[in-house]
Amino acid sequence: MSIQDISPAVSPIVEAIDVHKSFGSLDVLKGINLSVKKGEVVCLLGPSGSGKSTFLRCINHLERMTSGRILVDGRLIGYHERGGALHEMSGKELAAQRRDIGMVFQRFNLFAHQDVLTNISQPPILNRGKPHDEALARARELLKIVDLEGRGNAYPYQLSGGQQQRVAIARALAMNPKLMLFDEPTSALDLELVGEVLNVMRKLAADGMTMIVVTHELSFAREVADRIVFMDQGVVVEEGPAREVLDNPSRDRTQAFLKRMH
Ligand code: ADP
Ligand code: MG
Repeated sequence: MSIQDISPAVSPIVEAIDVHKSFGSLDVLKGINLSVKKGEVVCLLGPSGSGKSTFLRCINHLERMTSGRILVDGRLIGYHERGGALHEMSGKELAAQRRDIGMVFQRFNLFAHQDVLTNISQPPILNRGKPHDEALARARELLKIVDLEGRGNAYPYQLSGGQQQRVAIARALAMNPKLMLFDEPTSALDLELVGEVLNVMRKLAADGMTMIVVTHELSFAREVADRIVFMDQGVVVEEGPAREVLDNPSRDRTQAFLKRMH
């Protein structure tokens, strides 16, 4: 065997191991295991209340797990491991980790008093020490990617919901994240604005971005996801290639959910 035959171990970008999360006596996540490879697009489906948002929030430690562990690009998120025990990171260390993880929410939380270019360029200036000129040049580039070239001087209130959400995506991308998390990014939008946001996400996926997308857009999931993970009541019920899970679900709960979606 030549050395070329031994493929290097490709460590996943996201590795979630037996993640549990309770709120008081409510067990919301009951042992989630998920591994996402570099460049992979995973769509997370499931009924409302199944724990999808909680799980995404655990990935960047916006939510503190009850037990389990999550690694992003090989590094434990939120904790240091010493002597077999987990110790929570300082806020500063956590902030450093979060820079590598972009998150886009249902509600686009742009700064209302800043124009689009400032919204996009400010995070890398403040958090990565990027020179002002460079950050602005990159912001203009990102505006092209999200199909908003020339709208840099607009204020959020002057933009439609779809345009604001695309600015929010550009803003997350400005930090050069290793991973993008989307939590129902089109759920708050009027129907006619959904497509323009999905188009941008499609482009990112085609460009090799590693993405976990919580969505109810089944046609998007079918077309773009490498893998679908179906969650219900805090567990992963079923996962597999998009077509397999959507067209031929093996579990009753997945079948029932998909039937309700049509
Ligand atoms: P999904 O995103 O799949 O709709 P969530 O993760 O938002 O589900 O919520 C899962 C469950 O956890 C729900 O029952 C919800 O009410 C509960 N939950 C979420 N966040 C909190 C919280 N901060 N405190 C108490 N319960 C919560
Ligand atoms: Mg949710």
